[in-house]
Amino acid sequence: MRAKDGRSFGAPVVVAADGVSSRLATRMGIHRREDRPMGVAVRGYFRSPLSEDQWLSSWLELWDGAPHESALLPGYGWAFPVGDGTVNVGLGMLNSSDAFRKTDYRALMKRWLSHTPPEWGLTEANQEAPIRGAALPMALNRAPAYRDGLLLVGDAAGMVNPFNGEGIDYAMEAGEMAADAIAEAHYRGIGTRSAERALEGYQSRIKAQLGGYYRLGTVFVKLIGDPRVMKLCTTYGLPRKSLMRLVNKLLANLTDARDGDLSDRLINTLTRLAPSA
Ligand SMILES: Cc1cc2nc3c(=O)[nH]c(=O)nc-3n(C[C@H](O)[C@H](O)[C@H](O)COP(=O)(O)OP(=O)(O)OC[C@H]3O[C@@H](n4cnc5c(N)ncnc54)[C@H](O)[C@@H]3O)c2cc1C
Repeated sequence: MRAKDGRSFGAPVVVAADGVSSRLATRMGIHRREDRPMGVAVRGYFRSPLSEDQWLSSWLELWDGAPHESALLPGYGWAFPVGDGTVNVGLGMLNSSDAFRKTDYRALMKRWLSHTPPEWGLTEANQEAPIRGAALPMALNRAPAYRDGLLLVGDAAGMVNPFNGEGIDYAMEAGEMAADAIAEAHYRGIGTRSAERALEGYQSRIKAQLGGYYRLGTVFVKLIGDPRVMKLCTTYGLPRKSLMRLVNKLLANLTDARDGDLSDRLINTLTRLAPSA
């Protein structure tokens, strides 16, 4: 690799952990897949009594304005108590709806906040810093995760979970898998065919671990992109405890892989059946 000042840098293996835009991967010809979902998340910090809550809260009904009088959007809102007097409040939304490209997310966030209870204090006067947002690259939207000595980790490989918008855990787990593959490649002797197979094993592990589940997530994203489906789910699904237990396991990726109950087995079977490509 050549730097702007003309110096050259080389390494037998490089990890691209440079986030959603991954200029490194793009320069190496590994581009974003358009057939995978994208999300957007915006968040702000507010001084609020919610800061001392023992629980983090999320709202699966994300209204574009006044609740029940405006459009229901495919996404959710959250409030994470920080414990220092502030709360991290934000919302995430998927690109599966027509509303996606037209939405001004900061304005949407302000509208959403204006409908929260006044005692929470989520007002401009209590805002600590500007509202910031970024894209959420989902369902392995940049592949392959290994090619020509370059391993993609985290957002660079689009590893955000399409069911819930989480990417930190997956980025860290992928980092560990990448480190394993690199250590194995060194052990086998960098430059040998055997070492190359060890590095290719990283891509296979990522696909085996996340491929099927993320493929299900892609279907889920398409479904909830239809406001009628979203409305049906929230109206008839939310009040049903046993259904919500299953939904919680599916959305939070908390399925028991080995034992577990009927809902675990159902999700595991669907995950296995879904093509991981
Ligand atoms: C508002 C919002 C809220 C979110 N909330 C959650 C959440 O609650 N839970 C969750 O799990 N996930 C959440 N996510 C997603 C999560 O933040 C990402 O999936 C995660 O940070 C991905 O980690 P990463 O290391 O792959 O990429 P990043 O965190 O983007 O890190 C990439 C780093 O590389 C640096 N970089 C880029 N190019 C270069 C370069 N050329 N040279 C040197 N450095 C470079 C960048 O500056 C950056 O620091 C949220 C995202 C947003 C936008």
